[in-house]
Amino acid sequence: MMDVSKIRLDFPVYQKQPKLTYLDSAASSLKVKSVIDQIDHYYMSLGVNVHRGAYDLAYEATRLFEEARVTVAKFIHANEEEIIFTRGTTSALNFVANALRDRLRPGDEIITSELEHHSSLLPWMMVAKKTGAKLVYIPLSKEGRITVDNFKSVLTDQTRVVAITHVSNVMGYLTPIKAITELAHQKQATVILDAAQSVPHMEVDVKDLGIDYLAFSGHKMFGPSGVGVLYGKKDLLNQLEPFEYGGEMADEVSKDQATWKDTPLRFEAGTPVISGAIGLAAAIRYIESIGFKDIHEHTAALHQYTLEKLKKVEGITIYNPTADNPVITFNVDGVHPHDIATMLDTYKVSVRAGHHCAQLVSKFLGVNSTLRASFHLYNDITDCDVFVSSIVAARDFFLSF
Ligand code: PLP
Repeated sequence: MMDVSKIRLDFPVYQKQPKLTYLDSAASSLKVKSVIDQIDHYYMSLGVNVHRGAYDLAYEATRLFEEARVTVAKFIHANEEEIIFTRGTTSALNFVANALRDRLRPGDEIITSELEHHSSLLPWMMVAKKTGAKLVYIPLSKEGRITVDNFKSVLTDQTRVVAITHVSNVMGYLTPIKAITELAHQKQATVILDAAQSVPHMEVDVKDLGIDYLAFSGHKMFGPSGVGVLYGKKDLLNQLEPFEYGGEMADEVSKDQATWKDTPLRFEAGTPVISGAIGLAAAIRYIESIGFKDIHEHTAALHQYTLEKLKKVEGITIYNPTADNPVITFNVDGVHPHDIATMLDTYKVSVRAGHHCAQLVSKFLGVNSTLRASFHLYNDITDCDVFVSSIVAARDFFLSF
């Protein structure tokens, strides 16, 4: 059993906001003290660049930065050369789409889904427009899932790219990506996985899944904003042209020629996100100190408890009662989600309202927008109770007119 009062001591925001009912971790998690301390240490005691200086402080900063790469690599079962630090999931996914664009021809097919966050969908939509390749959508099951059978129905000899989400940020459904990747590889297609919502909640083993590229963000897993990770298979990365050119990524430069270092440095032009990477490594150590098994048991129990309570409230539509991640997407019938969210805020309950940067999901559900409550390890049963009673109060208030 998770001792949440102890866990909350690790999250300084609760000392400043003791009444906070934070249910928006799918947007961004709260930040853990060890991450803040680690970033503080870098800025207070080092503050210098990496890979460049021939002095003690630079060696120490470089050691911490490269150690962070090793920590990230082990966390997702990759090799350290396969880890590129980026600004976040969005920049990682855009990088891959841009890098693969030159290989696509008119008639080639890019498989995606209506469950995608815009950062997984739009880069490929733009690539399709520029190259004449075709975007192909996996038909979702009735409840809105990507299934292996539905994937098979769109996989063809023209499929070159499969760019899909691991866990939907709106529906919380887990994609059967291992089986999909095996099928995609039979057609020599490249598989790019948006793991922004899975990596903060479950063990992700890139070698076991077999995917070619994967992206996630630090800020959704107790780490800093401004840092994310692109994983790519080493031999694939070394075939990619760098996206940005600049310092520390070139090997040999003459007046009209240049050669590049091997991955990962060839993809980290300029001063990298040093404090972000170091902070992310601290976030990973924190997650590992608790373990995904306990995190999952705890958040799944809160998720289930809240679902059961919410189902009993009249006038609520829940869109994803079978979600795999601890995410509840719902509406209060007849009331705009933004009105509900604003009212919940008066009770210090933070939830998300809108289309969640995934407009095709709203369209699939036949609504303009939804409310979303999402849980993580610092939530407790009181949060669930306060949330449901606030929903009831907000519903009664708005329907009283
Ligand atoms: N993909 C999914 C599934 C997400 O939930 C998010 C963030 O909400 C992103 C991608 C984009 O992440 P970031 O804004 O950190 O780049």
